[in-house]
Amino acid sequence: MRSVIIHNPLSGFGSDAIFEFERALVHAGDECTFRVLAPDFVPEDVVGDADDFDICVLSGGDGSVTGLLYALRNRNVPVCVFPSGTANLLFANVGNAPEPAALARACRVGHTASVDLAEISWVDERGNEHVRGSGIMSGTGFDARLMEAALPKKAAMGQAAYFAAAFANPRPTVEEFTIVVDGQKYHRRGISCMVADNAMIQGDIQIVPDCRMDDGLLDVIVIETQDAAQMLRPLFSGIVDRSGKSIGRPHLEFFRGREITVRTERHVPLEIDGDVASSGVTEYRAKVLPGACNIVVDSMSSYQPCSDAPARFADADEIAFPKE
Ligand SMILES: [Mg+2]
Repeated sequence: MRSVIIHNPLSGFGSDAIFEFERALVHAGDECTFRVLAPDFVPEDVVGDADDFDICVLSGGDGSVTGLLYALRNRNVPVCVFPSGTANLLFANVGNAPEPAALARACRVGHTASVDLAEISWVDERGNEHVRGSGIMSGTGFDARLMEAALPKKAAMGQAAYFAAAFANPRPTVEEFTIVVDGQKYHRRGISCMVADNAMIQGDIQIVPDCRMDDGLLDVIVIETQDAAQMLRPLFSGIVDRSGKSIGRPHLEFFRGREITVRTERHVPLEIDGDVASSGVTEYRAKVLPGACNIVVDSMSSYQPCSDAPARFADADEIAFPKE
């Protein structure tokens, strides 16, 4: 088996788990390329030769992993998402077992699922066009301001940084959103409008019921509450009911579609998968890329295809460097 591990050392808390994973992944006769990302890496260059490998492992936070996944779109290489970031929401939504040895085994078993990505595009204040991939959620309004506020604290506080930022910004501004979903136009007042490929956020809270990344559709979520305290209530009820079905309808509204445009009257920050992509936009578009990626799933994942196919790379339980 030939594998490439692409690791972002700047993501998360600098854990050594990826080396434990590599040790469990490689067997006698294998070849493994370990690629460490530079701070200013260009995703297309990093994965340029990915098709030469049997498997491509992406180790980093949500922002770096989804950027690389987007660069790997519509290529057939099996991709394993390894959780090395602060929140690892994409990994959590895929639902694989998180232990490094279990993930290495899933790579050797080699069962994959075909999943959608979102392609986000916008024009910045200088008139330059930008396009980026998203695997979780992107949005304008309060969620983007939260990400901006949480950014300096992420390294020290981890996920708690997002909650700390929510309490520090209790009165978000209300925006007028014009939302076009597959040609159908809606006007809504709210603090945030997000487009989701995946809807499980920090704390395993499912903010949209039945949001899946293999249905060829994106979910649009409008948060209509006017202060963060009101938003935290549905979030806490989500902790009790993780299916998301009990979340109060007055606060959140959902749409589902393939092509979405979100406009605001004022410039608002745009957030993509936890990173602030632009400090001021009045419009962004999201388009679904159905089945764009081929990701490794284990039997814990709800994306595990019904398959009794044998392991793709045999000897899934044998390891090359047995511990004495
Ligand atoms: Mg979907």
